[in-house]
Amino acid sequence: MAVLDIVKAGHPVLKEVAKPVEHVNKKLRTLIADMAETMYATEGVGLAAPQVGESLRIIVVDDHAGSGLIALVNPEITRAEGSQIGPEGCLSVPGYFGDVERYETITVKGINEHNKKVTIKAEGFLARIFQHEIDHLEGYLFIEKATNLRLIADHPEEKEIV
Ligand SMILES: [Zn+2]
Repeated sequence: MAVLDIVKAGHPVLKEVAKPVEHVNKKLRTLIADMAETMYATEGVGLAAPQVGESLRIIVVDDHAGSGLIALVNPEITRAEGSQIGPEGCLSVPGYFGDVERYETITVKGINEHNKKVTIKAEGFLARIFQHEIDHLEGYLFIEKATNLRLIADHPEEKEIV
């Protein structure tokens, strides 16, 4: 296990559409474990493989509010309802956050690190994290969708980093 370097906005890998994974092998399981370790080391609530320089459709998520660690490969939102607006930040855009409109409730499908099909229903903050991480797989950063982009240093009371 290892804490990986996080690539920052401006790196071309963050603009790519990440490639689907055909089969989660041992090498990719190590990547997933390292992504989780990196997420926890940085106190993030989610991380997408492009953020560690790998253009692959893999995300890890933990809302630190009961979800536990979720690793999802080839995630796909199959159902989305409602809307919510709330603050987001990003480990690849350090120092900033902004308000982003997201679906309130989603169903997301994919496979886990053992190649088993999984379906997850999420709402509120957890749904927000999934949408933020899946955007990374499409080459989008939250700053392209955010309104009222601002410096965290000016608002230390607000801190919801995804
Ligand atoms: Zn992010």
